[in-house]
Amino acid sequence: MADNARKPATRLVEAGRRSEWTQGIVSPPVWRASTILYDSVAELKERPNDTHHRLFYGRRGTPTQWSLAEALTELEPGAEATLLFPSGVAAVATALLAVLEPGDELLMVDSAYEPTRALCDGMLKRFDIATRYYDPLIGAGIAGLIGDNTRAVFMESPGSLTFEVQDVPAICAAAKARGATTLLDNTWATPLYFPAIEKGVDLSILACTKYVVGHSDAMLGSVTAAPFAWARLRQATYQLGQHAAPDDAWLGSRGLRTMGVRLAQHQANALKVARWLAEQPQVARVLHPALPGCPGHELWARDFSGASGLFSIVLNGGGDAARAAMIDSLELFGIGYSWGGFESLVVPADPQRMRTVVPWAAEGPLVRLHVGLEDPDDLIADLANGLRRFAEALS
Ligand SMILES: *Cc1c(COP(=O)(O)O)cnc(C)c1O
Repeated sequence: MADNARKPATRLVEAGRRSEWTQGIVSPPVWRASTILYDSVAELKERPNDTHHRLFYGRRGTPTQWSLAEALTELEPGAEATLLFPSGVAAVATALLAVLEPGDELLMVDSAYEPTRALCDGMLKRFDIATRYYDPLIGAGIAGLIGDNTRAVFMESPGSLTFEVQDVPAICAAAKARGATTLLDNTWATPLYFPAIEKGVDLSILACTKYVVGHSDAMLGSVTAAPFAWARLRQATYQLGQHAAPDDAWLGSRGLRTMGVRLAQHQANALKVARWLAEQPQVARVLHPALPGCPGHELWARDFSGASGLFSIVLNGGGDAARAAMIDSLELFGIGYSWGGFESLVVPADPQRMRTVVPWAAEGPLVRLHVGLEDPDDLIADLANGLRRFAEALS
């Protein structure tokens, strides 16, 4: 269990480095395995099938995966345990399948990551699980949507693309009062800036592909469970055959050790860039949870201890062509999906295609930025050039 007396920065360095897993090596090595050999029939028969942290069969992991999982648990005060997944989407899917049954209703935030919506509108629907989308700013008003069949409430805070910050404690309290399980996609803040279990969440989900791995070179997901939800998460994970490769878990562990310092720098760089963008005439709005004017900003100030490097801007007028002219001219922002690595990235995004409860209306097209670890003054110069191209394309 977590040594919660120690500060998060110390836990990041120490967590998961049990001597029986490291064998004295500083960074727990890669243990690759499918078959585990037993000394005798008696030993094989006596090893319990639900063993946790004992070698059983490769699918159940080795010390490489256990070490990262334990480290993630230790970052979440109040958590029981963590399991790893081959991607963030696999983590979201397994967590939902762990708690839902045919005939149930799921309350899903309208600003959810698009593949999460695709799962709800596709496979979950086929399994007779109904999804009802809700306004990300609903807060305690969620109580009015919770019916007899509502089994789970899924949050993502801040929301994908548009960054609405949710009142997670209020939503969790309302769900708990009605016996509904709460899930949070906590990828943006990570447990360092938002300790989700402590705030009342039952299942805290990370796309570790982003800030945990941190170097854009591996896919990985995790779900950390409160004690109440752990047994169901473990059962679903085992039955679905979920497994994260030891080499990728090792990359996750390696990334985790520096996640605190990386996040602090992403935060500082992104704030400098975001504040500059807020003053540019070509920018109608900056959607960054730490800036006033972002929906739910006051909740961010109340509940979060930091901000990461991902935010969006709404351009002032224009359409696809002007937006593309701006994005194509950028030299330091790579055009590509994902985020959370050391490098800056940019993508065009169109939330109006997805939203069903709160229609997205804006002054112009949306651009999502991930601010990396480059010097922010160089990034600002690059964006200044991009905004000039945008303005030229408008005229
Ligand atoms: C990227 C992302 C995911 C999915 O993670 P993958 O590892 O790419 O499958 C889930 N949620 C959010 C908020 C994300 O940004």
